[in-house]
Amino acid sequence: MSRCIWRGRGHMYTGSAMSCIFCKIVSGEIPSTAIYQDELTYAFADINPRAPAHILIVPREHIGSMDEADEAKRALLGHLLWTAAQIAREKGLKNGYRIVVNTGEEGGQTVDHLHLHLMGGRAMSWPPG
Ligand code: AMP
Ligand code: ZN
Repeated sequence: MSRCIWRGRGHMYTGSAMSCIFCKIVSGEIPSTAIYQDELTYAFADINPRAPAHILIVPREHIGSMDEADEAKRALLGHLLWTAAQIAREKGLKNGYRIVVNTGEEGGQTVDHLHLHLMGGRAMSWPPG
């Protein structure tokens, strides 16, 4: 298990978090377009948007996926969901939106740092591919 220790504005990385692109976005090492931030989360624009609004919400600490989120992360997971809903309200996504958490290879996860996709601004189809 890798860890990413919050140290004020920067991070100390250990294990696989050292090469994690989203840890580097959280620390500012890789630039991003910030949408929202607090002590637990950072939200930024997806670089390859699949909807008019496409925002990623990540925990500041490195968690590889939902599969690595143990009981100690229950409150953090709730905070991530609340953050997505709050951003949707602030963005005025009154007609609805979708929150997606791809998990693992068959779940379509390509970046191994837990993240919520908030997508809105168009009608979504179901089921997803
Ligand atoms: P997933 O496939 O669910 O793991 O989602 C990863 C998402 O990260 C994709 O939607 C990518 O477009 C997005 N992404 C990858 N690199 C960056 C980056 N540097 N800045 C913003 N979004 C990124
Ligand atoms: Zn990470």
